[in-house]
Amino acid sequence: MGTCEMCGSERVMTLLSEISGTRLRCCNRCIESNNLNILEKRNVPLSKPRAPLSPVRAYTKNMSKLEKEVMPDFHRAIKRGREAKGWSSRDLAMRLNLRLNDIQKAEAGVQPADSTLEKIEKALDIKLFEDNISEPERSVRAPSSRGMTIGDALDEFLGKE
Ligand SMILES: [Zn+2]
Repeated sequence: MGTCEMCGSERVMTLLSEISGTRLRCCNRCIESNNLNILEKRNVPLSKPRAPLSPVRAYTKNMSKLEKEVMPDFHRAIKRGREAKGWSSRDLAMRLNLRLNDIQKAEAGVQPADSTLEKIEKALDIKLFEDNISEPERSVRAPSSRGMTIGDALDEFLGKE
């Protein structure tokens, strides 16, 4: 039993560990949370192996849930795209095998089915969907309950600012 030189916990099992070339006798908690190199053999097994901190790969994970979102001003884009082609609403409706009414409604801001929007997109060479990629999740380690991070404690111990 001893005092952890990193967090100051008293009457704890400490092990000689190394961090950035500095040797400290640290408690299991500090060793575990900082993945310290242990310079002596443990005689007490750690409670349970800490799950490896996986790098943020939430982006990849979210790709499977990637959803297309219709652009908020899709109706203006349709009208602009159609006029750029020099087509009337009727021309567009005929090309897409849609009713004139469908085109008129879409241009008035009534959102048609995605499949219809996709057809319009292709016919007019415009983009009506935007990719909806959620902000990647960040794996944030919970701050220390002592109100001081391990880094702070270590800096203090090492006499750094
Ligand atoms: Zn400690």
